[in-house]
Amino acid sequence: MPAVAFLTLPAIGHVNPTLAVVAELAHRGCDVIYFAPEDMRARIEGAGACWVDRPRRAASGGPAVQGPSDEAVRRLPYLMAAVAGATVPPLVEGLVATRPDVVACNELDLTARLSARAARLRAATFRPFHAAPRSGPRAEVTDDLANKARRGLADWAAKYDLPPTSLDEAMRGNERLRLVFLPRRFQTMAEAFDSTHLFVGPSLVQPAELPWLFPPRPGSRPRRVYISLGTLRNDHPGFYRLCFEAFAGPEWQVVMSIGERTDRAALGLVPANIDVRSFVPQLALLAQTDVFVTHGGLNSVMEAMWSGVPVVVLPEIEEQRTTGNRVAELKLGVALEREGLTADLLRFSVEQVGQDPQVGMCVQAMRKDVREAGGAPRAAEALLQLVQ
Ligand code: UDP
Repeated sequence: MPAVAFLTLPAIGHVNPTLAVVAELAHRGCDVIYFAPEDMRARIEGAGACWVDRPRRAASGGPAVQGPSDEAVRRLPYLMAAVAGATVPPLVEGLVATRPDVVACNELDLTARLSARAARLRAATFRPFHAAPRSGPRAEVTDDLANKARRGLADWAAKYDLPPTSLDEAMRGNERLRLVFLPRRFQTMAEAFDSTHLFVGPSLVQPAELPWLFPPRPGSRPRRVYISLGTLRNDHPGFYRLCFEAFAGPEWQVVMSIGERTDRAALGLVPANIDVRSFVPQLALLAQTDVFVTHGGLNSVMEAMWSGVPVVVLPEIEEQRTTGNRVAELKLGVALEREGLTADLLRFSVEQVGQDPQVGMCVQAMRKDVREAGGAPRAAEALLQLVQ
């Protein structure tokens, strides 16, 4: 059976969608090798891969992935190219030592893609994010960083006896398979993606059934709202207090995931009908949810669609705005600006999307698309076909 290596950015939202593919490949008897930082090890081994250490700094081109801004995301390819002289050789060594038949790289992980090319291994990419097709790096970077990136790529090409390449060409790459973790109908500007792109939809493992975190109450059923700003930029106590104001009262039952970094003392008094947690089993919880208030991370929105739950999207960065706009266009919920958001507007929006029959129908149609896109089994199959 073939061996497949995985390389991605060190963030839960970039690792999670690969895990079901790993499990599927392992289930089919493949050897799966996963290069990632130590803190991802348990998840990766739990999915059935052999974990190989890839220190966090080397995997992220610097500190960019800890709560990146739009600017940090745009600068990432330049940073990764600039430090390629230090980050690519150890990865090439690791790849040569494990000799996978295919290397599956996060499309944003230029270090990984350069390493696979340097090791002369067959590669595929995957996209655990939502964006228009690339037209090349667009960041306003200093001449110094642009020069460092150019030099990094020139040294990489010379060291591994490869033709010189620009950053634009390196990011475009020449992989024959590019997995996209959303269904084609959800993709913005889908018509501009060529036939190397395979829209497999979210790659999820059906979770065990979980009861809602609140015990059921006799009498009329309160509306159940789940609120999360994801795992990277969730330190927003002011927003959580606004949610308390919006949803305090017996007609609501709310579960809120606020992450590890938020200072609980800054939240003040928590209403009795709101359950605040650092982390929840999100996919299992969504099965019990009426409306999901989300930052618009691609995984979160896809998990909501998988579960047939309408969303209120509160985007913070460009990628989430793209997703929020698509949600609104497809009538899967609404997207709101965080700036100027009031408790009344949030409550009204949640009430609206939860009751609107058109939203309900559109969410059900998207649920069907999401479930029929093929998910992890289709992604695994496509990766294996590259070897044959
Ligand atoms: N997640 C979770 N429990 C939580 C919060 C998040 O399991 O309490 C998972 C969620 O199911 C999703 C991922 O973390 O798979 C977040 O990814 P997303 O792309 O939505 O946002 P990011 O955290 O990357 O901004």
